[in-house]
Order: sequence, then structure tokens, then C-alpha cells
Amino acid sequence: MADRTDSESRKLLGRLRETLAEDSAGQERLDRITHLIADSMGTDVCSIYLFRDADTLELCATEGLNKAAVHETRMRVGEGLVGRVARSKNAINTPDAPSERGFRFMPETGEEIYSSFLGVPVQRLGDSLGVLVVQSKDARSYSEDEVYALEVVAMVLAEMTELGAFVGEGEGAMGARHTQPALFRGGTGQEGASEGRVFLHEPRVVVTNPISDDPHEELRRLQEAMDTLRSSVDAMLSSMGRGADKEQVKVLEAYRMFANSRSWVRRMEEDIALGLSAEAAVEKEQSATRARMERVPDAYLRERLHDLDDLSNRLLRLLTGQGSDTGAEMPENPILIARNIGPAELLDYGKKLRGIVLEEGSVGSHAAIVARAWAIPLVINAKKILTEALNGDPILVDGDQGVVHLRPEDGVKTAFRDKIAMQTQAQERYTSIRDKPATGLCGTSVALHMNAGLMADLPSLEGSGAEGVGLFRTELQFLTRATVPRRSELAAIYGSVMDAAQGKPVVFRTLDIGSDKVLPYMKPQDEPNPAMGWRAIRVGLDKRGVMRMQLQALIRGAAGRPLTVMFPFIAQFDEFRDARQMLVDELAREKKIGHQVPDDVRIGAMLETPSLAFAPKQFFEMADFISIGGNDLKQFFFAADRENERVRKRYDTLNVSFLTFLERVVDRCTETGTTLSFCGEDAGRPIEALCFAAMGIGALSMRPASIGPVKSLIRRTDIVALRKVIDEARVSGAQSVRPAVLEWLTEQQNG
Ligand code: PEP
Ligand code: MG
Repeated sequence: MADRTDSESRKLLGRLRETLAEDSAGQERLDRITHLIADSMGTDVCSIYLFRDADTLELCATEGLNKAAVHETRMRVGEGLVGRVARSKNAINTPDAPSERGFRFMPETGEEIYSSFLGVPVQRLGDSLGVLVVQSKDARSYSEDEVYALEVVAMVLAEMTELGAFVGEGEGAMGARHTQPALFRGGTGQEGASEGRVFLHEPRVVVTNPISDDPHEELRRLQEAMDTLRSSVDAMLSSMGRGADKEQVKVLEAYRMFANSRSWVRRMEEDIALGLSAEAAVEKEQSATRARMERVPDAYLRERLHDLDDLSNRLLRLLTGQGSDTGAEMPENPILIARNIGPAELLDYGKKLRGIVLEEGSVGSHAAIVARAWAIPLVINAKKILTEALNGDPILVDGDQGVVHLRPEDGVKTAFRDKIAMQTQAQERYTSIRDKPATGLCGTSVALHMNAGLMADLPSLEGSGAEGVGLFRTELQFLTRATVPRRSELAAIYGSVMDAAQGKPVVFRTLDIGSDKVLPYMKPQDEPNPAMGWRAIRVGLDKRGVMRMQLQALIRGAAGRPLTVMFPFIAQFDEFRDARQMLVDELAREKKIGHQVPDDVRIGAMLETPSLAFAPKQFFEMADFISIGGNDLKQFFFAADRENERVRKRYDTLNVSFLTFLERVVDRCTETGTTLSFCGEDAGRPIEALCFAAMGIGALSMRPASIGPVKSLIRRTDIVALRKVIDEARVSGAQSVRPAVLEWLTEQQNG
């Protein structure tokens, strides 16, 4: 870097700092800054374009262009050279702007007389705030040093924007950031609606001193912070003993690599030499990393860039003294916002959370499983919410629609509250039928059970009116630990679950791992298609030690009480026979060594692949019961990934083919007298639940919160008559019976 540019740039930043310290209005400051930059860089023009809304850039200040165009000239992202810089988040440097692709002539600015153009994005942590442009009449090409210097200035501008330095009053003035209502569209992780205040999982670090005139001091501070960072990463690594979570070790090793990366440090040192403070230098490089993250298609590389991003956060906290504990108090009705969160961290927060919003996450993630178990509304894939939300901001989470309203307007708030009130009223209505049976007008009864996976779910058993636990997903105890849980620990948990159920039946499903549920201590299998890979019973039968240990824990937990065990993902008879035999063997062994064993043991299979419906009759005879895992069954029936938002909702559960398939399963179970239930998410959707009952499925297991709505509808419906409606729709050539069912139900309710 040329010394002259260094000192020029430092001088410019020094003058920018003075404008920041001055007590002047936002517009005045912007005008002064454009003047300073043009003067310092020897250009005819300097202009600042800032985002007016998410898609529109506005000329907010200029030196050299027609002043009348300020706050008048606007362009959309991608439009003209300025719009292109904003879209690509990359600099455009050209000696002949008018011949450049995308050049847009803007007569009101007098722009056509300027030949050279250099535009750089104004961005903060990957969030685009605007574009900074310099132009000249002569066809000059700006040097690399000049581009770099302008990027540094843009970084300072971004910080100043964030700090509210350009906020003004009156028409056309810039509003303060993070004060406007913002809407985020993501995906549904868990249904439900809630209102509360933002609580950031990772505190937001604010840099208040982006510029420094003492590069030596800033270099020393950076050095010191890097040293502390390196030794803390080393200390974390050495404290991880044998049997440590491999994934965590991998992340720490990546941290160590970055912490020792010369090129990363060198870039920050160069930023400091140009006049940035140490923290601003870290943030500038972090912004560049974030911008790269958006462009990298490779998931592995993106993860590594995330690691670098995390490390930058740590470094920023060291430099600003804003530790991971910002002292931010958890507000009442906290809505947690995070990039992503592991199940253990989520469990630490406990049930006090009113809602969760993740920038990433997926429907099948562990966090989603926990949120679902707790019935806490969860929105996933809410892109960019972390750059907007501040601790304590009012927020509405609509888990049904996958929508988040940050700092909502009153109208939105009122509509939302009405929605919540209606849901609460409905829940209250359901308590009055809590102890009544789910019997239709025709006299058909359906057994309603609840799904669970945590001890914390069990209190819902009483309140929901469920007859028992139809599916206890045992993998959560495995997922939330860094090492395989001990047999005694598991036995104690299973025992407590049965205690809490107070004699009501609990169906324990053995470990369903693999697919999206990867245990921290299991070697990732790197399968091309894990949902159809080595998972559930396939792992259990191949790694018998773990399954045997779990079966022993179940027998010991039962301590003589009736025990119900269900094996997941059975695709053919042999798998069930084999797994069942393992349990029978364990019962014999436990008895032999003097443990009390249950007299009443029921062993069932989950039907999650179409193949099992066509298994030999002997399978149906051997199984004490069968439970349809509709989540998996549907994905394999329609070949539509349950985690892929694009295809997930494409096929209706009430599709005629699917119902006909269910009918076939009902017939086979009837033939052998095998108990049949349905425990996928669809069982908790009232219309679906009604139709399953009409098809002859006598037991449904669902989220506790769904029991009220499902029971209420069943009690108001003639299920036998509904079956006729379904059958008529099936022969009519309809693709789904839903329209016919809805029409009939509406008639019934109105009549
Ligand atoms: C299912 O597949 O429907 C099911 C209940 O199991 P899980 O959702 O845990 O895969
Ligand atoms: Mg399943």
C-alpha cells in the first residue's frame, strides 16, 4: 500500500471523525462527508446512495452532481451501475461508465459528463446499507489503493449509518435504523402464534469508535486481542478430553486455523494502517466474510466461513469489552432470536421462551424437535433478522404462516392479538371436553394419545385429556448429550416418564437416529440421501450394543410395570422379527440376573415405508400393534422430502391414493386383529384426523395442543356419514377428497 494513500486516507478518516463529533444535523453531515471525500481523492464527484426501503436506493448527498437531484433520484437494486454495486456487493471501477453494461442515464443529475466511475458497497455485517460513488470527467481508472481506501471509508459510513449519524428531521430526511416495522418471511418450524420482545441469543456488538488516529495503539490492541483469542481457543481444545464431541473439536480446530491465519490478520492490519480502529477492522473483514458466505454454494465451505464469522464475533467482544453476557436482561415474554441453536442450549432456556426465530434451521433440526415438544412457535429461515432485531424490540411470531413482524404497526398488532385471543378462547373451550370421550355423532370412538420426547412434556398428559403417550421419541435424550447416555441414567428417565404417566400407557419408540438426527458422538456417515440411509432400526440391528443397552434400560425403568416398545422404520418382516427377538432375549437375560421384568410387554412396529403394508400376514400376526409414522410414510409414498419446503406441501395427505393406501393397511390389520394407530404430524390436524378415523384408524397420537381441536371436531361429526362422502369423492376422479369433505363439513356445521 502506498504511503501517500495511507496518510491521505488517515487524514480523510480523521476529518470524517470530526464530522461525527460535530453537533450537526444528519443531512449537513452527509453533505460535508461527500465534500471531504471528493476533495481528498481529487475527484469531481462524490455521492452517497442509501437504501430508502429494501429495494430502493436514493441519492442522499452529492458533491459535484446536481444538488436538486438529492432525495429525488432513486433506483432499484440491480438498476444502473449504482444498483449493480448494491446487488453484487462488489466494487465497480471503470474509466468509461457510459459504455459499461447497465449504465443508466440520469439527466437530472448531470451525470453524462462524467466518464470514470468507482462505486463501492456500504455494508455492515453483510447487510447492504447503500453505495458510495466517486466520479471524474477524465477517463481515469482508480488504482487498487484508491479502491481499497474508498472501501475503508464506506465501512466507516456504514458504522456512522448504524450509529444514526445521518438521521434528520423533515421531508426527505433519513430515519433512524432499527426503528421501522420489518416483516420477515421464513418457514414454519412449529405452529402457534405469540407476542413478546426480542432476546438475542448472541449479543450484538456495537462499534462506537470506527476511526482512530493512532495506528500503533490499534495494532497493539489487535495483537493483544488476537493473543487472548488464540490462547482461549487452545485452552478450549486442550480441555476437551477423550470422547469429546467430534463436531465441536472440528469447529475448534477450524477456529485455531483462522486464529493463526496470517492473511486474515494482515488484512486487518492494513485496514488499521488506513485509519480504522481495531474493532472496525475486524468488522470490515467480517462484512467481507458475510458477503462471501452468501455467494459460496458449497455447504462445507460455508460452514467454515461461519466459523470465521463466529471467531470475528469473539474478537469483537474482546476488543469492545462487550462479553458474551451483555447484561441484557431477559425481557418478559422473551422471543429468542439466533442464527441457529443446538438442542442443549435451547433446553437451557427452558420453557420460558414464548417463541423462537432462527435465521437458519430446518423443520427436522433438533431445535425444531425441542420447540415442537414444547409447543413453542418457531419460525425458521428468517433471513437477515439478526441484522435488524435489537434486544427488547416488540415482535410477533406467526408459526402457522412462518412470518415474523418486528416492531409491528398497531394495526398488525391488533389483528395478531385477535388471532391469539381466538386461539386461547378455543383452548379454553377445549378444557370443557377434556374428560369427555372422542366419540362422533355416529357413536364411533377414537382413542387420542399424545406424542412426547422430553420429561417436560409429561405434565401435558393430564391437561390435554390424552389417553396416554402414543409415541415417546427416545432420541432426544441421546441428541442433547455430548456422549452416549448411561444405561442407569436412561432407566431412571424411562422410570420417571412412567411415574409421570400414572398408569396411562406410554409407547416407547426405540432410537430413531440417522437421517436428520445425527448424534454428536456418532461418526457422520456422509450419505448422499440420509433419510433413506442408515437410520433407525437399521442402525439398531447393526450396532446391537446400543439397542441392547436401550432395551435393558426400558426393562429396568419399567420395574415390573407394563411395557410397550415400538421399533421405528421397519421396512420388512425380518427386521421386526429380529428386533423383537432382541427384546425377548433381553427380557430373559434380565430375569435371569434377578431383575424384575414386566408381565405385560407389547411389541409393535412403525409403518413408515410403503413396503411394510405388503409384508407377509405373519408379520401382522406377530406385531402386537402397528403405528403409522405418516411423516416418513408420506415422504416415501409421494417421493417428496419432508424437509424440503418446495415439495413438502405439494401432495395432500387427503390425496385419494394415500387414503386408499391407508385403507389397505386398515384391512390388513383388521384381518389379523392387530391394533392400528397413526402418530405422524397429520394426526394433529383436525380434518386429516377425521378422515383417518373415517378410514378406520382407531387411535391417533399427536401434539398435546392438538388434542382439544381434534376431539372437538370428532364430537361434532358423524364419522360413518363422512366415510360415504370420502368414498363418493374417491370414485368421482378427484385428486384429493379435501374439497368434498370441507364442503360437507360446512353444510353440517351450518345445518
Ligand atoms: C413419522 O415419521 O411420522 C414419525 C412419527 O416419526 P418421526 O417424525 O420422528 O420421524
Ligand atoms: Mg419417522
